[in-house]
Amino acid sequence: GDARAPIPLRGEIEFRDLTFRYPGTEEREPALRDVSLRIPAGTTTGIVGPVGSGKSTLVSLIPRIYEIEDGALFIDGVDVNDIPLAALRSSIAMVPQDSFLFSMSLGDNIAFGLPQSDPDRIALAARRARLEPDVEDLPDHYATIVGERGVMLSGGQRQRTALARALALDAAILILDDTLSAVDAETEAAIQAQLDDVFEGHTVLIVSSRVSAVRDAD
Ligand code: ADP
Ligand code: MG
Repeated sequence: GDARAPIPLRGEIEFRDLTFRYPGTEEREPALRDVSLRIPAGTTTGIVGPVGSGKSTLVSLIPRIYEIEDGALFIDGVDVNDIPLAALRSSIAMVPQDSFLFSMSLGDNIAFGLPQSDPDRIALAARRARLEPDVEDLPDHYATIVGERGVMLSGGQRQRTALARALALDAAILILDDTLSAVDAETEAAIQAQLDDVFEGHTVLIVSSRVSAVRDAD
């Protein structure tokens, strides 16, 4: 195997005239048509639009969840298809719309992408995601088993756990796909107030159906 650590990306993202169809939908309208967009490294971009407009599709192409043609998507000026998948994915922290929690402890769920579990890093990420007050209330705190798909937690707690998992990674590119839709407006505002610091120096894409969530974006 290749033991070299992947080179971290800076996080400039460029879509060039991208048209995308999901596999097996060739006879239908493409999910995305002629999208051109340049996102400088270190900026925060808000993406707002109605359900079905292609927001999740757009962001899922960045970590190459679906295959796309050459010449349509570049990161740091390099075609994504030419970036080794390990290097690409280790530079991206993505909170998908429906994040998956595992039937293990809350702490292990937050630490899921880390090379090793680190209590300080877990606690910091939980604080930033406004999960800490909830952790205090759970029977075994970070050792609480969250149950199959996180059934022990409320929808908002699951989303904040997923956010904490992504924040713990400290990746160059952070993608939040409707991450706080189940979180109440007050908590959302409190999280957002702290994210300014966290976002500093990272390329952030925030997808939301609420314009309020992207108010502070560049
Ligand atoms: P949004 O996130 O803005 O609600 P999506 O990106 O999920 O929109 O969807 C854009 C379009 O792509 C919709 O027409 C949707 O039905 C279609 N779509 C989404 N996911 C898939 C999939 N896995 N296979 C086929 N079509 C899909
Ligand atoms: Mg979506």
